[in-house]
Amino acid sequence: MARVRWARKCAARRRNGLPCGNYAISGGKVCRVHGGSARQVRRAAQRRLLEASAYRALAAAMERLKRERTDWAVARVLAASDVLGIAVEQLVRSDVWSAAAISDHPDLHAPEPRLRFDRRFGPRGTAATQKVKRDAP
Ligand SMILES: [Zn+2]
Repeated sequence: MARVRWARKCAARRRNGLPCGNYAISGGKVCRVHGGSARQVRRAAQRRLLEASAYRALAAAMERLKRERTDWAVARVLAASDVLGIAVEQLVRSDVWSAAAISDHPDLHAPEPRLRFDRRFGPRGTAATQKVKRDAP
């Protein structure tokens, strides 16, 4: 995913009442000079950046799931049409299940795609569970 730069102007005003004009710190609302270097402000900015990237990861995962489920469903319908010899337009939902019951066509038995997160955003788990996952085939 492309990196998204935080390009936001500082919310503070100068003594003469005009806007500061500097860029805010990454993830923040104010520039370095107007409080952006304070620890609590930097920490809040970090949290906002992390939150934003988590939302983007979720949106990307949902888009991917939608695409994969459509492909999965289309492949099932086409396979059912093939196995039963019924035109796609005439198939009903239960035909897919009937076709799966009588045929071992791989598209009819492919598991339904599930929501997958980028590893960076998934649960970290303990070192022990990570080791188990790594050792699994
Ligand atoms: Zn400023």
